[in-house]
Amino acid sequence: MRYAEVCVNSPVAQRQIFSYAIPHRLSINVGQAVWVPFGEKLLQGIVLELSDYPAVEETREIVDIIEPRPVLSPAQVSLAYWISDHYLSPLFNSVALMLPPGFERKALTFISIPSIPDDSDLSSLPQEQRRAFDLVQKQDKVSLRQLERTLGKQKAQRTVSQLVKRGLVTRSYELEPVKAKPKEELYLSLAIDAGEAQQEAARSREKRAHKQAALLDFLAQLSRPVPLAEARQKTKCDKATVDALVQKGLVTAQHIEVRREPISYQDITQSYPLTLTAAQESAFRSISQSLAQKSEEHPDVFLLHGVTGSGKTEVYLQALAEAVRLGKQGIVLVPEISLTPQTIERFASRFPGKVAVLHSKLSLGEQFDEWQRIRNGEVDVVIGPRSATFAPQPDLGLVVIDEEHEWTYKQHDKSPRYHARDAAIKLAELTGAVVILGSATPDVESFYHAQKGDFRLLQLPERVTPSESSPLPQVKIVDLRDELKAGNRSLFSRSLSRAIAKAVADSEQVMLFLNRRGAATFIQCRNCGFVLGCRRCEVALTHHLAEDTLVCHQCNYRIPVPQLCPRCSSQRIKFLGVGTQRLEQEASNTFPQARLLRWDSDVTKGKHSHQEILKKFRAHEADILIGTQMITKGLDLPQVTLVGVANADTGLNLPDFRAGERTFQLLSQVAGRAGRGPLGGQVIIQTYSPEHYAIQAAAKHDYALFYDQEITYRRQLNNPPFTRLASLVYTHTNDALCHREAERMKRLLIDERDAKGIADLSLIGPAPAFIHRLRGRFRWQLILRGSELPAFLSQISIPQGWTVDIDPVGL
Ligand code: ADP
Ligand code: ZN
Ligand code: ZN
Repeated sequence: MRYAEVCVNSPVAQRQIFSYAIPHRLSINVGQAVWVPFGEKLLQGIVLELSDYPAVEETREIVDIIEPRPVLSPAQVSLAYWISDHYLSPLFNSVALMLPPGFERKALTFISIPSIPDDSDLSSLPQEQRRAFDLVQKQDKVSLRQLERTLGKQKAQRTVSQLVKRGLVTRSYELEPVKAKPKEELYLSLAIDAGEAQQEAARSREKRAHKQAALLDFLAQLSRPVPLAEARQKTKCDKATVDALVQKGLVTAQHIEVRREPISYQDITQSYPLTLTAAQESAFRSISQSLAQKSEEHPDVFLLHGVTGSGKTEVYLQALAEAVRLGKQGIVLVPEISLTPQTIERFASRFPGKVAVLHSKLSLGEQFDEWQRIRNGEVDVVIGPRSATFAPQPDLGLVVIDEEHEWTYKQHDKSPRYHARDAAIKLAELTGAVVILGSATPDVESFYHAQKGDFRLLQLPERVTPSESSPLPQVKIVDLRDELKAGNRSLFSRSLSRAIAKAVADSEQVMLFLNRRGAATFIQCRNCGFVLGCRRCEVALTHHLAEDTLVCHQCNYRIPVPQLCPRCSSQRIKFLGVGTQRLEQEASNTFPQARLLRWDSDVTKGKHSHQEILKKFRAHEADILIGTQMITKGLDLPQVTLVGVANADTGLNLPDFRAGERTFQLLSQVAGRAGRGPLGGQVIIQTYSPEHYAIQAAAKHDYALFYDQEITYRRQLNNPPFTRLASLVYTHTNDALCHREAERMKRLLIDERDAKGIADLSLIGPAPAFIHRLRGRFRWQLILRGSELPAFLSQISIPQGWTVDIDPVGL
């Protein structure tokens, strides 16, 4: 007898696997999806290991195979284990990352009566069981769900168990319908050869069966099967005609799988490799050497550090082509927000027909089709957000992670809380693939690894367009405190004001940038300092000018703007912060001649409005584009000569050790928007803290300056990369209870640490989380600092209500 260790789709399974016997009739491989009995249910499971001995004495048997082909490769099985161990997530959650879209299904329970019992059995039945039995008997077979609806959930389950014990009813299982299936269409073709068909057509005409004749002639002209819909449309035939010809054996009707296609290649023209610049060439050569060597033990991770516009994408494209030439495939990860038609087109035009997109916005059917194509080896390049790390490329050669510093590569809102960069590096280690991390502003931790030699650093120090020597834009820092002193209370400093006016007068374009929508739009009493916050969420309320209301961006709580300060009744309650709407209004007052366009998540809720706004601005239908960090993402807008940052300080004072890094990245990206065309450009950054190193370094386009300061602080304060962090958050509706539980957990962790004598493990907190209250639930947080956190935490029983985030990206 052989045994399988199965990861089961049940919340109680957590990080455990279960042993099942493999019945002789089934042939089972690692990575295979199976149905297994679990308690009284039938569940989906994935076989993770095979063995000759079961891990426990008594095993049940695997019931059936769900799909003949394994759904996970051996490397993916190892990756699932790694994710579960590293991020302390249930195994099935990790496995689920790699399953085909729409895969997860439940088995439904049905109740039936095996043979008709004699009356004496029934007369002794308690009333409740008798009623349930009658319900089943009336219909022969009833779903448990239906009984639950009639009798109540608990009563139904209880009485069914009792009846099963008496042998009066039996349970059986059927699968929930498949959610995503291959799409099939009915196709017609001739069952005879074309010559015969024409003779048949002539005969049909004699018998006045004109429609049949027309269809036969139509099919005789074509050598390929034709969709039924097309045949009906072209020949005006009806179903009866088709049926008649099929019945006579002249025509065959068959279902053929058709593909749902998320990329429309019609508008895409093939692009060809560009002649690389010297810097690109040298980067490319290192990568292609590494692709050719393929060392299985030690993956090659490249950090491609290149300013915006330095031609990183061309390096990715040629490296991907090289991987394809070697018979392998690639995966390209981009941040969700950059997954635009333009981005997809850049890849699709280089590999026409050979690119797949995986994206949660596609329909389930499209996702399913793309997944199948990938698994069948039909796709050279998969492009997608972090989840595309798990695309089933059969022979992975290269993983590209563009904008590798982006926080969205970390899944923080649900389990598994994995980082796509770390998962991709692990996957590369398992498959021998090469990894390219690309960024203009690498994550401090990535750069540190490159300095240490864990990653190989490649640099593209200059922009490519329009000429190789095109300089980065001039950046000017304006101290807003000086403006106040000079009596300027406007949102625009004197220099920004002058620059905007000049650019607009010269028919050039301007982008005005605000760090985060509503980040500084709170209102504060100038008399007593009171800030209006949400009563439920403890975050500042944001002023929405259009409706003149204050809105909580966590829970959508809304109140009208008060006339008096709720605390001191002063009338000097005044707007201090600025949102994009406010900026737009003031810009329209200050520059009445300019045409404005606003771009933030309020105006881009609709599906295509992103693209529409961009198209308008490209067509120069507006002079000034006002927006949040969304406008910093990889747009190439050559007519923009001026970028203004309204207030660079928002976000600098967040209680997170990465606040400086975040600000540097954002400002650098914004600065990268200007001067992309022949006119060059300048950037003006307004701030209350002009001396801050993140602002200084961004203004000088000097990553090294930023990095040296930042890494020094990280070392001094013992923050990553010099240690690792884990955040443990407990949520509950009762604040005091929440606090108590956090204290209890802290003591438990400290006791455990001391008992084990772990020296390098420390705890911060408990404290209310940055957002203390969210949707009516309180949140308390513990931060752990140490080098072996997953191993330490995996030994501790962590009750419900806690979430554990290993390597969190936001505190
Ligand atoms: P990045 O990805 O680093 O921001 P891109 O790859 O978008 O930079 O390159 C910026 C521009 O330069 C693009 O329009 C691209 O087509 C062009 N470009 C890149 N490499 C070359 C090259 N070797 N020769 C000519 N143009 C290039
Ligand atoms: Zn007040
Ligand atoms: Zn709220």
